[in-house]
Amino acid sequence: MVTPRVARPAPPKAPVNSTSPERARILELEAAARSLDPDSAGRDRLMRAAHGYAQRLLNALPEMPAYNHDKSAVQELRKLDPGQGAHPIGQLIDRFERSVVRPGLLPSHQGHLGYIPGGGLYASSLADYLAAVTNEYAGVRFVGPGSVEMEDLVLDWMARLVGYPPTADGNLASGGSIASLTAIVAAREAAGLRARDFERAVVYATPHIHQCVHKAIRVAGMGETVRRDVAVDDGFRLCPNSLSTLVAADRARGLRPWLVLGSAGTADTGAIDPLDRIADIAEREDLWFHVDAAYGGFFALLPEFRPALAGMERSDSVVLDPHKGMFLPYGTGAVLVQNRDALRDAHAYYASYLQDTVESEGGGRSPAAVSPELTKHFRALRVWLPLLLYGEESFRACLREKLELTKYFQREVESLGFEMGPSPDLTVVTFRWVPESGSANAFNQALVEETHLDGRVFMSSTTVGGRFMLRMAALAFRTHLDTIDLALDVLREAVYRLERG
Ligand SMILES: *Cc1c(COP(=O)(O)O)cnc(C)c1O
Repeated sequence: MVTPRVARPAPPKAPVNSTSPERARILELEAAARSLDPDSAGRDRLMRAAHGYAQRLLNALPEMPAYNHDKSAVQELRKLDPGQGAHPIGQLIDRFERSVVRPGLLPSHQGHLGYIPGGGLYASSLADYLAAVTNEYAGVRFVGPGSVEMEDLVLDWMARLVGYPPTADGNLASGGSIASLTAIVAAREAAGLRARDFERAVVYATPHIHQCVHKAIRVAGMGETVRRDVAVDDGFRLCPNSLSTLVAADRARGLRPWLVLGSAGTADTGAIDPLDRIADIAEREDLWFHVDAAYGGFFALLPEFRPALAGMERSDSVVLDPHKGMFLPYGTGAVLVQNRDALRDAHAYYASYLQDTVESEGGGRSPAAVSPELTKHFRALRVWLPLLLYGEESFRACLREKLELTKYFQREVESLGFEMGPSPDLTVVTFRWVPESGSANAFNQALVEETHLDGRVFMSSTTVGGRFMLRMAALAFRTHLDTIDLALDVLREAVYRLERG
């Protein structure tokens, strides 16, 4: 029973001394502080400038180079001292355009065919704008129930995609690297490994696993763990027999096999490890199985592609990069972990100044309890908005298109006379030109530099099995057939120029 409160009159208001020097000083500061908070007309002016620039850039993109090797304008940024403000917005956008956007690679460009291309969905840029304007808090459910629920919702969607049960948990991090770190720490806790165990704990991976996972192990304080290179087949995929043999030998030595890393798309060649076979071994040997699906994970949206990713659902943890396979702007990597307790044991914390945020009302855990971050950018909106605006089918079409473009490029570049790397599992093609005489590695290094000088498209390179290979990676959402045709022209012309000396 709640006893009704007796209404008591509030104490009388203190008289305001409008001539107090203290109040005058505060009001003076207020007037200056308000310059940080433009009024409606001021916001409109800023927005027009930013929107006008974004429109000019996106309209000009088809005709712009993807890569500009002249980086001299970068230093001009120093002409504007961050300690000396009050410049007009137009001048600042101009500086940004000339010193930041133009030099180097334009990652939002259709011709970004290097590394693993990122995206830049316009809808997500607007989501970021709204996330920033509202400054929704995505770290703790008590204060940001809706933003945390939205993060749960997109993580549940990704868990379904991976094939994880609804009991899995996860987190939206800044990228694949921090997402990997989040998973590795969970794997450490789940195995109950303490510092004294690290020198005996063993990690298994092919040399093609992304370095961010090894970095995560080191950052997790586990640099002393034993690293085993698992052999690969001729498509650079992990050999299960090699894994079994290594694990058995380590057990015989008295070591503690702990973690096996699989790739759903390596950055080198896009190779997908035999995840199902690895899962068999991980189960049998009681290893934590982590899948790096930063690049390839979202291809699970394609029913016809799911067999290639079979076994991903049997992993203990997985990392996907929406800023790659979902074409988002940089800044979002997702981690999913089957054993939610392991994730929480690794990351939960308590601070008395946050005592009123503790999960008292059974509303579910907060992102801060399952990741290294407390306050973070509200990342779920940039995933949610494009999904609900366009639907999965648009993403499917864009991914399928990239797979088809890859096959097309592979065939055409081979018919130009290039020597081909392994047949692509995903959307990376590796290839090199074998010159009549001289070092092939030196020639191909010169060739990739020649394409960078050209700049109409941007391809990168890698070294696999001692061979310097060019790489074409089709994953930028703006890459379409005309871009691939242009890339073929660029290569043909560059080889011609180099061959003639
Ligand atoms: C990009 C990438 C990573 C690292 O993710 P970031 O988002 O760059 O931190 C890890 N693995 C693979 C296969 C990647 O392509």
